[in-house]
Amino acid sequence: MIKTKGFAANTAKAPLAPFEFERRDVGSNDVQFDILFCGVCHSDLHQVRDEWGGGKFPMVPGHEIVGKVTKVGEKVTKFKVGDLAGVGCMVDSCRKCKNCNKGLEQFCTNGASFTYNSFEIGTANLTYGGYSNNMVVREEFALKISNKLSLSGVAPLLCAGITTYSPLKHWKVGKGHKVAVLGLGGLGHMAVKFAVAFGAEVTMLSTSASKEMDAKKLGAHKFILTSNPDSLNGVKNYFDFIIDTVSAPHDYNLYLSLLDTDGVHICVGVPPTPTEILGFNLIGNRRSIAGSLIGGLPETQEMLDYCAEHNIVSDIELIDIKNIEKAFERMLKGDVRYRFVIDMATL
Ligand code: NAP
Ligand code: ZN
Ligand code: ZN
Repeated sequence: MIKTKGFAANTAKAPLAPFEFERRDVGSNDVQFDILFCGVCHSDLHQVRDEWGGGKFPMVPGHEIVGKVTKVGEKVTKFKVGDLAGVGCMVDSCRKCKNCNKGLEQFCTNGASFTYNSFEIGTANLTYGGYSNNMVVREEFALKISNKLSLSGVAPLLCAGITTYSPLKHWKVGKGHKVAVLGLGGLGHMAVKFAVAFGAEVTMLSTSASKEMDAKKLGAHKFILTSNPDSLNGVKNYFDFIIDTVSAPHDYNLYLSLLDTDGVHICVGVPPTPTEILGFNLIGNRRSIAGSLIGGLPETQEMLDYCAEHNIVSDIELIDIKNIEKAFERMLKGDVRYRFVIDMATL
């Protein structure tokens, strides 16, 4: 077993604190790497506070993980010692069901093994995430990372990046489309970067007036402050797509009314409580509301390669792991510009 240091929540009410645990020895198909950086996703906060229910404790969060390979199993072909590697939200799946065969491991019909708050496939062993100093993972679930980009800025691509890239690709968003991005946080700022890169006209819908300049710098063509609903009057029936990244309860009906004919409201944000949707807001303009969960392995690698080619990384604020609770508090207030990333040298 491999001795590992990390930060864990012992219960849903407990702040994160130092925690020592063991990872499995490197098997023949496994890659071990030292974690250098790990992004802080709002899903980490939802889960350590058990807002979605079913939380498994002690919980070591973190699923935007990058580092350097220190050991490979004898059957590993994709990595050698010294390579950069990344892990996102999944560490395993059955690898043979219809969804796994399509590269949609996130929808594995036998249940994927998520990076934390989950079990290793076929065992009762809890998985522990990236707020820690090393990782052991099957090579199929480790992503190749280019050394062309800033590594700390690459980390958030493993979740915030793929979660926004995947729906934009699925709905073929590009030139001629009008896209609204709802919520300018970790996911939101990546959605803006990708939608702009794909050629869409992008409007930022935000509750924070102070983010207008940044939204424009990220490439958004327009910015609308949503705290005054009247400000949305000019964009009723306007958008082809809304990418909704909001983490807290909000009124979907207000935003559905902004969709043009056949428009799609794509939910990637996962507020902890259900919401009411008025049928009239769907039947008018034949609108849909849809969702999207991260992305499968082939598409995650495609996204990382696309980012390396187009020089896209996340805009980050590097933090000391000891300040993680402060970072969570700022995240709750929408005060993240635009992703906290833990420098694992501070562990
Ligand atoms: P984040 O960095 O905290 O950003 C969320 C943004 O939503 C905030 O910056 C804020 O932007 C806006 N917001 C917050 N509270 C709001 C409210 N009450 N009303 C309106 N807007 C509000 O979070 P994130 O890491 O991007 O994650 C966003 C959501 O996506 C979370 O629920 C997370 O769990 C989920 N997620 C889903 C997937 C998936 O696979 N589908 C993957 C990763 C994360 P403004 O200041 O601009 O308003
Ligand atoms: Zn995430
Ligand atoms: Zn499967």
